[in-house]
Amino acid sequence: MTTITLVQGDITRESADAIVNAANSSLLGGGGVDGAIHRRGGPEILAECRKLRAGHLGKGLATGRAVATTAGALDARWVIHTVGPVHSETEDRSELLASCYRESLRLADELGARTVAFPAISTGVYRWPMDDAARIAVETVRNTPTAVEEVRFVLFDTRAHAVFASRLG
Ligand code: ADP
Repeated sequence: MTTITLVQGDITRESADAIVNAANSSLLGGGGVDGAIHRRGGPEILAECRKLRAGHLGKGLATGRAVATTAGALDARWVIHTVGPVHSETEDRSELLASCYRESLRLADELGARTVAFPAISTGVYRWPMDDAARIAVETVRNTPTAVEEVRFVLFDTRAHAVFASRLG
């Protein structure tokens, strides 16, 4: 049985087995939550990302997929990097956003992570409307069989927290 919890704040301050990063396909850093994770987690995370790019992820990480690295100085064992889709008005990319949550949980299971903290993937620079993103996040986590005991959504601001809370209701 997976418990879903909600927190408002900075995900880089959380303690969890795995912290999920809303990365981009380059894995070489970006703004938003990605920038914050690399800043607080320190250079070890980027060093591992570079190794992945030099190895089997030569073309980068595809949208909807997930990969794990060390969590560096974060209070976690792993960072799970996943690439959310850019929101589109003309194409339904919901399945790719759902895939980010599913693939991250599958990887968490492989790693043996019991607590996993997620940001609201794709809701920043990738412009996914918060309410729809919250619906997809909550539905996907609820419908994904996993040994993860706690899935914690960490929402950066009060509005996002309220939107997720009403979806969980
Ligand atoms: P994406 O490119 O997937 O849209 P962003 O990092 O731009 O990723 O934004 C994803 C969400 O993460 C947004 O809702 C943003 O407000 C939020 N966010 C940004 N920084 C943090 C942080 N330090 N902790 C938690 N959430 C954050």
